[in-house]
Amino acid sequence: MDLAHTRYEELEQHILKINPAADTGRIRAAFEYADNHHGPQLRKSGEPYIIHPIAVAEIINELELDQDSIIAALLHDCIEDTDSTHDEIARLFGAQVADLVEGVTKLTRMQYTSREDEQMENLRKMFMAMAKDVRVILIKLCDRLHNMRTLQYQSDAKQKEKSLETMEVYAPIAHRLGMQKLKWELEDLSLKYLDPVGYHDVEQALRDLTTENSEFLERMQKQIEERLRADGLQCTVYGRLKHLYSIYRKMYAQNKTIKEIFDIYAFRVMVDDIPSCYNVLGCVHDMFKPVLGRFKDYIGTPKPNGYQSLHTTVVGREGIPFEIQIRTWQMHQTAEYGVAAHWKYKQGMANQNLGTEREFEWVRKLLESQQDADPDEFVRTLRVDMFSDEVFVFTPNGDVKSLPAGATPIDFAYSIHSAVGNSMTGARVNGRIVTFETPLKNGDIVEIITSKNAHGPSRDWMKICKSNEARNKIRQWFKKERREENIATGRAMFETELKHAGLSIAAITATSDLTDTLLRRVRFGSLDELYAAIGYGGMSAQKAVGRMKEELTRLGRLERQRAEQEALRTAATTGEAIFPAGKAGAAPKPRHSDNGIIVEGLDNCMVKFSKCCTPVPGDPVVGFITKGYGVSIHRQDCPNADPSRRKPEEAGRWVKVAWAQAGEDAHFRTSLEISAKDRDGLTLDVAMALSAQKVRLNNISARSQPDGYAMVNLEMSVKDKAELSAVINKLSAVPGVFLVRRAGG
Ligand code: MN
Repeated sequence: MDLAHTRYEELEQHILKINPAADTGRIRAAFEYADNHHGPQLRKSGEPYIIHPIAVAEIINELELDQDSIIAALLHDCIEDTDSTHDEIARLFGAQVADLVEGVTKLTRMQYTSREDEQMENLRKMFMAMAKDVRVILIKLCDRLHNMRTLQYQSDAKQKEKSLETMEVYAPIAHRLGMQKLKWELEDLSLKYLDPVGYHDVEQALRDLTTENSEFLERMQKQIEERLRADGLQCTVYGRLKHLYSIYRKMYAQNKTIKEIFDIYAFRVMVDDIPSCYNVLGCVHDMFKPVLGRFKDYIGTPKPNGYQSLHTTVVGREGIPFEIQIRTWQMHQTAEYGVAAHWKYKQGMANQNLGTEREFEWVRKLLESQQDADPDEFVRTLRVDMFSDEVFVFTPNGDVKSLPAGATPIDFAYSIHSAVGNSMTGARVNGRIVTFETPLKNGDIVEIITSKNAHGPSRDWMKICKSNEARNKIRQWFKKERREENIATGRAMFETELKHAGLSIAAITATSDLTDTLLRRVRFGSLDELYAAIGYGGMSAQKAVGRMKEELTRLGRLERQRAEQEALRTAATTGEAIFPAGKAGAAPKPRHSDNGIIVEGLDNCMVKFSKCCTPVPGDPVVGFITKGYGVSIHRQDCPNADPSRRKPEEAGRWVKVAWAQAGEDAHFRTSLEISAKDRDGLTLDVAMALSAQKVRLNNISARSQPDGYAMVNLEMSVKDKAELSAVINKLSAVPGVFLVRRAGG
């Protein structure tokens, strides 16, 4: 058997290990097809060319992607490098595979000349948008990974060029898709060629360090594991060295020696659920001394690519600092494989909690639409572009512009400058004259033809263009250039709209007070200003009339209510009218109730604790009978339950309630808001204070205020008000905290 076939047989074994039901007939056919087409072509390494696509298919298989992706990986260079065509591949392997191969080919042909930083960002987005199907990007990333792994056979110039491209385009895309493992390897490989001396320095330093502290990883891992087990926490602990490029960046960019870097060693603790994450945190901070200012809660505040974890750095007895990352298994899958993790979930890891995880918004949406769908349906949904709301085009100079999807040459012209838009007389796309309505496509080169004698924009352009930027600039032009005309057009439009609404101009101009009130409602100082705004399109006549009509109705209703209240006040003898079912002072007696609350006059009714004030046992409470959601329980001091703000027509819905005797392990959700002087370690100290009180923490999020203060929001479960008061006292004692208050109080 030749080398190619040996490698293929290995691949097939690996595929069957992951998916025993794989259609090896189809996969083998793809291999044979690619092998025949690449024929005697050789790689720079001297190996037959086909070894490369097999290797790419191996990586795709390790990511556990679907079968079409594996087949497309085997065929990925056929269109580019042989006489194979999209149609032929479609006929033999199906349209999906052909589309994937063609997508990869398009990305291969994309030019990445070195550009400025802000251009790089648009270039990366264009790359992703052009792919349409996320699997195309994954295949292209794996293709690049294998090329980087075998880069030693290329010329020096080629090595530098490919490494730079990998560092600036491919690694950030892997990062954006949340694929940390792939990103790290791409970065380490690129660094090797971009700064060989620095790379070997770090490598050597790391080697020295690990010989010095051999067994450190193993010993620590054991120690952490044993302690957590002893505390009854189900977990798995891994120890590792951080990847080379991240250490390199710290040593060179931040000018530190390897001993000054805190997180050469990193441990990961994997647990089953989020509350356990915080429990583990409390535990490791008890074991080791935490380093101030190094605690980060990416569970409460996930990174934009969906990454979630708790991070903290601690110092062990040997004085060696190390980082600990704490996360659930599901967060771990997402962190390592990102977007590719979905296929893993598909293949058995169960669908638990998929909807609640905060990921890329679009990935989350995919998952939601995904819960009952079959795998084919899933792949089809993945075709939805990630940037379906954006399109990326080039200026004649090669700058990349991002515009809203469906954008036209008008949008493009105004995105350059309003003067360009206002003097536009024509447009060329990819060298050909087009109409102003033509939608632009990803990768188009757009050129605007202008003239000093242009008449300026037409009103129709506002309907054609897609971006607010263009629309605003056109409006601006009309506002300035055509005031008289705008007032006349606007007035006519306004009066027509009034007629539609069954009103006359007299209803609005009855008194000057009324006119002023109505104009204030639409935020204009005079009728002329309003007309001018309608005329140039700053406000629609429909909206203006709609708001004024609303205001007229409201004024009428106010008048009626004033009359009704007058009548009520005469009828009611005491303030008790708002508790019609109860007698003064006679709160219902405590007895058992399943939901912790007894509602007077109603047995075991549906109860919910209002989110605005999150009452807990011990708080004086009052109930409100909602339409269809049972009784909602508010604290008596909740602004929403304030008797002076209750609507008279709802007086009968407010009922007396009392706390029932709660069960031993009953607990109630409530929230606190902490104001504090912003400082390093604030969130950590808050978390530690809670951990010391053994509070069940459901969520913690902190944000810095511009004035040097910070707000920390907590959601937790407590038994009753006594426990909550203890927690508040404890939190008030945290240095820097000057106010702890309950939400809605
Ligand atoms: Mn390739």
